[in-house]
Amino acid sequence: MDNGRRFVKTVSKKHFLDVILFLFLLGMIAMYFRFNIFHILPYMYPKPLSVWCLVTHILPFTFVVFNMLSNFCAIICTDSSIFDRLLPISTCIENYIGFCDICLCDIPPRCSHCDVCNVCILTRDHHCPFSMTCVGHYNRRYFLWFLLYMSAACFYEIVLISYYMYNEVTIQMTDLIVLFWPIPKIITFYLNTAQTCIVLLIFSIIGVIYSSLLFIFHLNKVCKGLVCREKQEKNYDFGLVKNLESVFGEKWYITWISPFIKSKLPYDGFNWPLPMFLYNH
Ligand SMILES: [Zn+2]
Ligand SMILES: [Zn+2]
Repeated sequence: MDNGRRFVKTVSKKHFLDVILFLFLLGMIAMYFRFNIFHILPYMYPKPLSVWCLVTHILPFTFVVFNMLSNFCAIICTDSSIFDRLLPISTCIENYIGFCDICLCDIPPRCSHCDVCNVCILTRDHHCPFSMTCVGHYNRRYFLWFLLYMSAACFYEIVLISYYMYNEVTIQMTDLIVLFWPIPKIITFYLNTAQTCIVLLIFSIIGVIYSSLLFIFHLNKVCKGLVCREKQEKNYDFGLVKNLESVFGEKWYITWISPFIKSKLPYDGFNWPLPMFLYNH
């Protein structure tokens, strides 16, 4: 079954919170697009674009937004589950750590069952409710770059919206009412320009803090050869470069440019080299 059909089939089984957060993220992205295209761009670039504007603003921001959205799509469309994957006949099979009673299969090292996705995930890191998908062996790369570009996009939005508000928007006291119940106002589109600026600025500040802290946390885990569920074990710590390769692939140093760059992973998620502690005994 291809990833698209699997996504449609399993989305109905997801938790309610996942669907709400997914729709919320899509709605906010649409709101940012609309505001940028109809307010900020016409204000900042009323005349035909100069080469300077193109090089310093439009192209970098387009690059950031393109990578944010394409990595987000790649998280969803890249399947890390054991569905349709043949369990290999392997010399490492004695390393399999158990049996999943729900999926009815052996569980390789670092694999565990996700109750939301209802399937075992290879090298399971965590379940991401915003993308309604588990982050695991094959999509962890995209998740990390999504966080990086999300924080970059939010930071850029803070600069743009602050500049626009300072020069163009007069905020009345009555506009601040949006601070107390922003969600109903967003859903009903009952926002004037000042209120839209306030809402987008607040969500940008939350977004840049949340996604940059998460990026640092997850990158630290990757560098140490860990997934979220693992603490300080050194079982799969193969050294910094090998740890980066095991998540970003053999072209780990250029995968930040685009999710479309192919970068072969050194491990298949089933077979891992013997844990380091076994070598030391
Ligand atoms: Zn399972
Ligand atoms: Zn999951």
